[in-house]
Amino acid sequence: MKLKLDKNKATNLYIQVYEEIRDKILSEELAFGSRLLSERKLSQLLDVNRQTIATAYELLKVDGLIESFSGRGTFVSYKQEEKKHKKTINTYLNWPELFERKQRVRHGSLIELIMDEQLKRDTYFFAGGLPAIEAVPKEAFRQISSELLQDKHLNVLSQSPVSGVSQLKKQIKQIMWHRGYESKVDEYLITSGSQQALDLIFRAFLQPGDTVLIEEPSFFGVIELLKHYGAHIVSLPMDKEGMQTSILEYMLEKHRPKFIYTIPTYQNPTAISMSIERRKALIALSNKYNVGIIEDDPYGALQYEGKNYPTLKSMDKSNHVIYVSTFSKTVSLGLRIGWITAAEEVINQLVKVKQISDLHVNTFNQYTMAAFIESGQYFEHEKKLIKEYSFKRDIMLKILKEEIGEVEYIYPDGGFYVWISLDEQVSSRALFDEGIKHGLLITPGYHFMKDGKERGSFIRLNFTYPHADDIVSGIKVLAACYRKIKEK
Ligand code: PMP
Repeated sequence: MKLKLDKNKATNLYIQVYEEIRDKILSEELAFGSRLLSERKLSQLLDVNRQTIATAYELLKVDGLIESFSGRGTFVSYKQEEKKHKKTINTYLNWPELFERKQRVRHGSLIELIMDEQLKRDTYFFAGGLPAIEAVPKEAFRQISSELLQDKHLNVLSQSPVSGVSQLKKQIKQIMWHRGYESKVDEYLITSGSQQALDLIFRAFLQPGDTVLIEEPSFFGVIELLKHYGAHIVSLPMDKEGMQTSILEYMLEKHRPKFIYTIPTYQNPTAISMSIERRKALIALSNKYNVGIIEDDPYGALQYEGKNYPTLKSMDKSNHVIYVSTFSKTVSLGLRIGWITAAEEVINQLVKVKQISDLHVNTFNQYTMAAFIESGQYFEHEKKLIKEYSFKRDIMLKILKEEIGEVEYIYPDGGFYVWISLDEQVSSRALFDEGIKHGLLITPGYHFMKDGKERGSFIRLNFTYPHADDIVSGIKVLAACYRKIKEK
């Protein structure tokens, strides 16, 4: 069966497959009783995801054009002579053509692929940014939630203020004090993770064409958001001390950006932390050029050793910094609790945007998190994580050295990731593809570039999520894949 697909077309592939087969059946090119290729075979033939074919077949079944029989396959079930008795075929409304222009671009296929693979089978999963599942403080949450669900507390399942439950804001204010920043409760907005925090900020401030400076490589989620809002993204190279502030002034002069977005501590993906001198230079330049800084700090609390880096927010005397953080990396990703700390006038505006977006973060989760911190367990928990994660990191670095001694990496003295520079002969995509065949999931470096293109060959490995045993076995698989590609 020959199908013409155009992967550059805005129309989703599953709809293209559906329409092509539907037309062939209606024109009798595929007659009643013809057997269709299996989903797996057709997906291989067309070089598309199997889910694409599964969805197209589903639509054909809804139209009554095909039928599947378990163990036998999928067959055309539509007879031309039935046409006169049959109701007209539903022509599928082509929703993607109604999408707003930017939405028609197929984003995130690498992430989808990684997630699909992870769900399908047991994998050595180094591709995520997840905390260890076993490290989530379940017992504490069980106790807190059963206490909160007693009758006297029934407000915990009710509506709450858009900016967040005040008990939680007070607790986060305490955490910020530990991060060097004295604040008022009104300087906080609780968000559904830091991803929403960043979305709200860009939504409130950016107009299409506004320039935002970012480090490169940088967090994929922000690159995608900025593209979504039509921002002009200018990237600044990094070295071992973080963003190169020596060229920042030239960039500020030339591009006059609205924001500088940075992950100054244990950066994603590189684990690099910006030196204190560079932090000072960045703050000074933001003042000189009157440009806002978005400080994204999901990993700063996870310091395994080395220098203690002050937050930019704690160094900012003129309210140029909008600070964003989250409990996703330290407590639980699924609770979806993050926050923004900024000047009150910024928070007041962001509250309005949040209200039209989703009213407020899940009230129950906010109370639960507030009680967890108030009980003193949060800081204890952080200490435990630091021990566990630095242990896992050490295992990963040791086995990497033993198995692929020649690779270079940036030593992660905190955070979630090891950023590895490969021999340039080994493309990170080839390594990714080879890895998948063996149940190994890693993130190739180009994923963190604004234009999705590799410069050199890098991979990012997460060491917090996998079990220690799986780190050892997974890195052995990685080493075997690496050698295989090198020898080709
Ligand atoms: N910022 C950075 C730098 C991240 O690495 C992540 C998660 N990978 C986020 C923001 C989003 O985190 P969440 O929405 O889960 O809080």
